[in-house]
Amino acid sequence: MPTSKIYSHNFGPDFTKRNFKRCTKCIMPDTKPGGSFDANGVCNACLNNDAKKNIDWNQRIQALRDLAEEAKRKKSTGYNCLIPVSGGKDSTYLAVTARDTLGLNPLCVFVEPCYIAERGDKNAKNLSKLGFDIFRFNPSQKIMPGLLKRSFIEDGQPVRAFEFMLYSVPMRVAINYGIPLGIWGENAAVEYGNLGNTDAEDQKNCPALEGRDASHWVGNGVTERELTAFQHPTAEEFRQSGMRVVYMSDYVFWDSRMTAEFAIKRGLAVRTPDEIKGTGGYWDFEQLDDEMPIISHLLKYIKFGYGRATDQACRDIRNGHITREEGLALADEFDGQINPEYIRRYCDYIGITVEEFWKIAESFRPKETVAPSPMSQPAPVQQQSPTMYQASPATSIV
Ligand SMILES: [Zn+2]
Repeated sequence: MPTSKIYSHNFGPDFTKRNFKRCTKCIMPDTKPGGSFDANGVCNACLNNDAKKNIDWNQRIQALRDLAEEAKRKKSTGYNCLIPVSGGKDSTYLAVTARDTLGLNPLCVFVEPCYIAERGDKNAKNLSKLGFDIFRFNPSQKIMPGLLKRSFIEDGQPVRAFEFMLYSVPMRVAINYGIPLGIWGENAAVEYGNLGNTDAEDQKNCPALEGRDASHWVGNGVTERELTAFQHPTAEEFRQSGMRVVYMSDYVFWDSRMTAEFAIKRGLAVRTPDEIKGTGGYWDFEQLDDEMPIISHLLKYIKFGYGRATDQACRDIRNGHITREEGLALADEFDGQINPEYIRRYCDYIGITVEEFWKIAESFRPKETVAPSPMSQPAPVQQQSPTMYQASPATSIV
């Protein structure tokens, strides 16, 4: 992704002023879906984080070891643990921990992104080199672009259709292989205060899926049969399988920088400083296999007024890596930035023009906020020709 000519897009003070209330400990705004604040103005994710300090983690790790021993005793096809993987940091951490700490024999399931980043492919292959079997699933490209387009237009969720597969395919593979234990990474509802439940065994209601069923896409040339890989196993199928599913973050103290450091030591490729620009964030180790989520972070910024850098800063503040003031500065600098090349590629994939993209994106901006289209009033501030735009945030009046 060439980002040698980087431009910010300055809409002026009216559009960068953020009137929402932020958590008094981290910087999460009150526009975050699922977020709530206590009487002291502390968000639910920070409260959960504080509660983690009182957890006996040795006891939790022992509970995880007990679950692993139970899985080893169960009849299986040889694999006794499922690890859903991408080309990212958590995949390496989960797979190595499951094998080397818990003594399990994991099968790693990788659903390949619509257009996989080179480093993502490299990282997936690195897992093989580390000695893991990878079940690699390449979804049909016949209906995916149309489903992503519908998710984008109807829900303002540019990658939601793909997210269905990220959950359903590993679960179906695990059940078909008779694998007794699935280990996922973060419990997003607990760690980040996202909407959705905290029960790993009720994945359909997790923050990413919110209880929705892929069947609502049947029609407009899409058949139920073509949606097979998008359909999560039913509660009855899951019950009959006898499978257990857990989030690792419920058993070990979770810190993205910890899993990143762990994975980098084992060969994980991360973004270069140049590649970080235009992702809307400042971490070099997040969502490495796929550039499409960058579009989702942009939509979040338009809808709720905060972007990827705010999410990253909140996690860094909670885990003591940066101060609140440093987090605010990082959010100010990076939130809403995007390299237009990511937008162009997404538009090409789902079959719309860039102008149509902005029209759809802007339709999700809260009504009480007004901002010019990033494409109609570019105001480059750094270099010669604009290659990166700063979308204007939604401002919430509180
Ligand atoms: Zn907070």
